[in-house]
Formats: sequence, structure tokens, C-alpha cells
Amino acid sequence: MTTPARPANRHHKRPRGEGQWALGYREPLNKNEENKKNDDGLNVRQRIIDIYSKLGFDSIDPADLRGRFRWFGLYTQRKPGIDGGKTAILEPEELDDRYFMLRVRIDGGQLDLAQLRTIADISNDYARGTADVTDRQNIQLHWIEIESVPDIWRRLEAVGLSTTEACGDTPRVILGCPLAGIDHDEVIDATPQIRDIYDRYIGDPAFSNLPRKFKTAVSGCPAHCTVHEINDVAFVGVELADGTKGFDVWVGGGLSTNPMLAKRLGAFVRPEQVHEVWAGVCGIFRDYGYRRLRHRARIKFLVNDWGAEKFRDVLEKEYLGYTLPDGPAPELPRGGRRDHVGVFPQKDGNFYVGFAPKVGRLSGDQLHQIADIAERHGSGRVRTTVEQKMVILDVAPAEVDGLVADLEAADLRVNPSTFRRQTMACTGIEYCKLAIVETKATASELIDELERRLPEFSEPLTINVNGCPNSCARIQVADIGLKGQLVVDGEGNQVEGFQIHLGGSVGVNPGFGRKVRGLKATAAELPDYVERVVRNFEAQKKDGETFAE
Ligand code: SF4
Repeated sequence: MTTPARPANRHHKRPRGEGQWALGYREPLNKNEENKKNDDGLNVRQRIIDIYSKLGFDSIDPADLRGRFRWFGLYTQRKPGIDGGKTAILEPEELDDRYFMLRVRIDGGQLDLAQLRTIADISNDYARGTADVTDRQNIQLHWIEIESVPDIWRRLEAVGLSTTEACGDTPRVILGCPLAGIDHDEVIDATPQIRDIYDRYIGDPAFSNLPRKFKTAVSGCPAHCTVHEINDVAFVGVELADGTKGFDVWVGGGLSTNPMLAKRLGAFVRPEQVHEVWAGVCGIFRDYGYRRLRHRARIKFLVNDWGAEKFRDVLEKEYLGYTLPDGPAPELPRGGRRDHVGVFPQKDGNFYVGFAPKVGRLSGDQLHQIADIAERHGSGRVRTTVEQKMVILDVAPAEVDGLVADLEAADLRVNPSTFRRQTMACTGIEYCKLAIVETKATASELIDELERRLPEFSEPLTINVNGCPNSCARIQVADIGLKGQLVVDGEGNQVEGFQIHLGGSVGVNPGFGRKVRGLKATAAELPDYVERVVRNFEAQKKDGETFAE
């Protein structure tokens, strides 16, 4: 008996690709890819200078306005007065205001006083005094008009700052430890590597069309303050048994709607190799990254599918042309908090002083005040942190008390409550077009209320407030992560509220918070809810147990 022939499958097609360039999928598979192919995002700079800033908002090509402007840190703000229920319903142009958010990238969080004062002046002259320190060490300005952008760039570039690739499908700001070069216990000062990557590759057309954003951290901080576990690529300081210092590479971390922790490649990278390994990882992302569906376009999906071993193999064979030696894992983070808030000694005998503005919200005047206070007490260097905080470096012992008193008098707390210290909030509905709820003011009020109700509470407890599921303020790695959504209150009205995630963390025991099914609170109920959680934790905790445990 012969085996019957298999019926021809008339519907059989070549499996649908993921839009990976390296596999021959060069034709754009969606609108974003098409826009990027039509014209490189970097080319919009000249049009802004020559045309849009002169002819005004209405002259801007929509593909530039909602696409390429991001390559220079510009997003249209949300039109005021549109409630969160309309976010998913309205067309982009209905949500667009005629003003922009402008993100100033501060690689490594490093600022001198001239740079800080320049941002302060821009804030006051062009941004209605707004200035938010973000959880990626940037400073964001709001209310920017297109006409002022060339002058803003001129001022920033005169002091060595830029907005190039601050947003968009590009290599974003490079995170670094604010204490690089001054910390007693640091494994290695990563400042040269951050500069190296910035100088060589930021604004380079070779990396200006990535599948999506690409986040980097390079640090030798023993507290692991740059949260390498949730970056697309991270270089973490390590030391070999013979005392040689270098970096351990991690790839594929990220939060948003599909959170994944980064994977170690297990390779040791010498300091002078960091830039080429970075370019190799970024090159893999550019060439093999998934471009078909935007929500699968981050490098974490590729790393998850390939695994660390294959990723390292491709990196070495196709991009570096040499193999990297195996290396050790970083030591577990030093105990305590990662935020560098407070007064601590530097290795040169001076002190650094970290302080906590409320949820990163500052003003142009306050930035000037910070520069003046630092200068008055002999410091010329200021840092931003990944927790929406700031640090003044190089304070002589005799100046510490005076500097602390000046900061506290300006409501820039050096000894803040846990709630002020460890609450972060994303931009939210005030300016963000994706937002469903308000965040900054809600979080500020929550801090005030918790300080009043729980004045003695001093355990570490992170509260991260997000205006939508995108997790810009890292919902999933907070002790209490709040994801903005509309909820129904006791009287049946739809109001602003939050889905609650509990017990996330990074560090010694990294893991994502659990979404507690059905656990939601309205914005108005938030203080009661958090107070209850904190009191229960205090009543039930065993010796030394942290909230995440
Ligand atoms: Fe906007 Fe959502 Fe990000 Fe908040 S989490 S800044 S609301 S996109």
C-alpha cells in the first residue's frame, strides 16, 4: 500500500518574519518603520532650525512632529483639560498641544554649575520655570515653543549639553553612578566609558534607526544604583582575582508591559573595550531586533528568544571578531538604599550630599538656588540620580553643616522621610499624551499625608506612581507600584485610580511585584490604602525583614 500523498496546502506561506534586517526584511512593516526609512530622524534638526522655528508650529510636517522630533528630545505635550478616559479614543492630533516637552540628556547624571545654570535659565526663559528630574537622570522642560528651540540648543551646546537622541528609536541617555570617581567603595569609575560611548556614537547615523529605544547603564557603583537589571544593555563594574578591573555585560532588561530582567552574558570586558562591545550589542539590536510589531521591538524579546549563550556567540563572531574571556558576576549590592541621599564621605576627605526634591519636581529658580548653594560652599559639581534626586559633590568638611542647612531651608531635604525619599512619579496626565491619570500632584499629596500620619516610619519602602501601564516610573520593581487607570468609586462614578502591585524589587533579590487581583484604589483612597499596608507590614514583620520579603 502506498502512502497517500499529502494534500497540498494551498495556504502554506513562508512564516511571517519579525522584520529583522539581518534576515533580509528590509521593507518597512509598519508606519513607524516607514517613517524612519523615508528620512533619518537626525535630519529633522536642520528643518527645525531653517524652517519650523521660523514659520511656526503649523508649518511642521506631521511625520516630523509625531516621529522625528523625538530624535532631538521633543514631544508634543498633552492638550490641557483632556481627561484620561479619552486617551485611547482620540486621534493623536486631538491630543497634541502646540507646546513641547524637551528632554535634556545628562549622561552619567554629571553637571557642572555652568551647565546647571544654563538649564535653569532656559527653564525660566522658555519653559515657564518647569524642570523635572527624571528617573533616567535627565531634566525635562515643558511649555517649549518651536520658535525657541534653536536658541535653546545654542545655549545647551555652548556648555557641552544636548538633546540629541534624548527620545526616539535611538541610544538614549547613558546612566551612570552619581558618585563615579569619588566613592570609597566603587569598583571602577565608569565616567571615561560613558564619555567614550557618547562621543563616538550619539548622533551617529549608524545607530539612529533602531527598532525601538535602547537604554544603557555603565557603572562601577557597589550599590548598583543604575539598576542594570532593567536596562537594554548594562556594564557593571567587576574585579578579577588578580585585581584587574573591568565590566560584566548584561542585556535585555526592561519593564513596560512585558517586564523582563536582564541576562548576564558572563563575559569580562576591559575598560577600553566597552565602547566596541556596546556598539556590537547595539548593532545586534539594529540588525536582528524585531521591527514588525512595535510592542515586541525592544531588545529584551530577542534576548529572551535567543538566550544569553547565542547572543554572546553572535556578538563575538559577527560583531567583535574576537572572543571575550569569561568573567565574574558582580558582587551583590551593598546593603542599604541605592539613592545616595544624605551626607557621606568621599574618598578624598570631602563629602557628598544627596537631597530629595519631591518626586523630582523642581523649577528654574530652584536649579539656580542649587547652583548658588553648591558654589557658596565650595562645590562645582552636581549630579542627578535615577531616583529623581540630586547630589552635590566635593563639599569640604567645614562646609557640610552650612550646605545642609541651606538645602533644607530651600525644601531640598537631605534628611527626608522615607516617603519623600522613596516615592517616584512619572510625568502623568499633566503633560503626557499616553496618561490615564494625574501622578506628580497625587504623589506629592500622598507624601505629605503619609508624613503626617506615620511620622515615625523609617523602613525602606519604595512607592512608584505611574500614569498608565508603560511603567516610566518602574511600577514592577517598587514595594508598592501604582499603575494609573480609571476605577469605579463607592458611588459608581468612574474616577482616577490605580491598580496595585506589591513586593517588587531590584538588588539582592530581584523580582517583579505581584499584581494583586482586583486590588485597586481611587486616587482619593490612596493615603488610606498605603497607611493600611504600612501598618500591617509593621505589625507582622519579623526581625530584619524588608517589605519586599
Ligand atoms: Fe506617560 Fe505612562 Fe510614562 Fe507616565 S508611565 S510618563 S503616563 S507614558
